[in-house]
Amino acid sequence: MTVRAGREFLAIPGPTTMPDEVLQAMHRPALDIYSDQMINLTDSLMADLGKLFATKGKTYIYIANGHGAWEAVLSNVLSRGDKLLVLESGRFAIGWGAAARMMGADVEVLNGDWRRAVRPAEVEARLRADKEHSIKAIVVTQVDTASGVFNDIEAIGMAIKAADHPALYMVDTVASLGCMPYEMDKWGVDVTMSGSQKGLMTPPGLGFVAANDRALAVHKTAGLRTPYWDWSEREGEEHYRKYAGTAPVHLLFALRKAIDMLFEEGLENAYRRHELLAEAVRRAVAVWAEGQVLSFNIQEAAERSNTVTTVLMGGKQDPAALYRYCKEHCGVILGAGIGDLTGKAFRIAHMGHVNAPMVLGTLGVIEVALAALKIPHGRGGIDAAVQWLGEKVSPSSETQL
Ligand SMILES: *Cc1c(COP(=O)(O)O)cnc(C)c1O
Repeated sequence: MTVRAGREFLAIPGPTTMPDEVLQAMHRPALDIYSDQMINLTDSLMADLGKLFATKGKTYIYIANGHGAWEAVLSNVLSRGDKLLVLESGRFAIGWGAAARMMGADVEVLNGDWRRAVRPAEVEARLRADKEHSIKAIVVTQVDTASGVFNDIEAIGMAIKAADHPALYMVDTVASLGCMPYEMDKWGVDVTMSGSQKGLMTPPGLGFVAANDRALAVHKTAGLRTPYWDWSEREGEEHYRKYAGTAPVHLLFALRKAIDMLFEEGLENAYRRHELLAEAVRRAVAVWAEGQVLSFNIQEAAERSNTVTTVLMGGKQDPAALYRYCKEHCGVILGAGIGDLTGKAFRIAHMGHVNAPMVLGTLGVIEVALAALKIPHGRGGIDAAVQWLGEKVSPSSETQL
């Protein structure tokens, strides 16, 4: 017997659930890519991406996923043999570094740990030791979607400044943009990249990059430039050069609608919504953890992301059984553990188009699965999540979930 019917619910960290309005925005004919309408659409999106990144720098839209946007960044600012410092806190900065190595960079990993955030003091110490300034750029993720960690991008930026080191500071916001505060210019970030299919509620297929003047200056002499990714090539007058060819018209319609929805809600409200729903998830997980089988992957509460929660499963229990039960019996797709956590964890995504019923429903289904599979867990996880929301989302508050 199953209680699955109708729509499957994706609780995976990308692609995420898309609002009906975003899906419907694509259900129309393409535009003439040389029309004013098209040019205005592109201009509006580039300006709004600047608002999301909080930068006065230049923005670029690539027909690419996050891996493509990584390559876009690297090819525009690095030359063969340049040293890149990768700040480890899970899988994704490491992946960005692996791409750089394949492209000919000299990649050094500042070893971190899958269970905690990058420590700014360790970054500062490494940069102070680099007296010849051989490190040309530093890469880090704001949220690592594998470990579930949240890195303090502002604090790392201050550490770089304190070391008085000229390396470009480059940040991956694929799993956080539109969900958690981000201030590229204020935090001293030189280059930021992101993607469409997570917090931005848009189909996979668009990659975004923002670059400030320092990055654009380095770009002038970068040796790894190639025609498709090249920033200068995209500065040409003709509209098609913004995309190095045909514009991804329908994805742009979707993105326009998604950003409109986000701005209508208000970014601050969207951040608050993510914070409240993430804490509801954490309240439930904390209670389940009393059964001594489940636990948070990220040990420090303050370092847990508001967009994805990675839950370790011990006691010889198999997270794949939980995953299968949720999918096959209840129609909820959880994220599996990936990288070092393959077979040891599951992930609950709470990013983008998420609301109270989606999150409470997902938690409820996990609790059903824990009961059905007789996985030891503390009782009352859902109640803890409900009490939390009941307290914070009071009838008099402006907060809507
Ligand atoms: C998903 C993700 C990526 C990779 O994006 P793709 O679109 O799958 O290539 C990169 N960085 C982070 C932090 C991610 O969560």
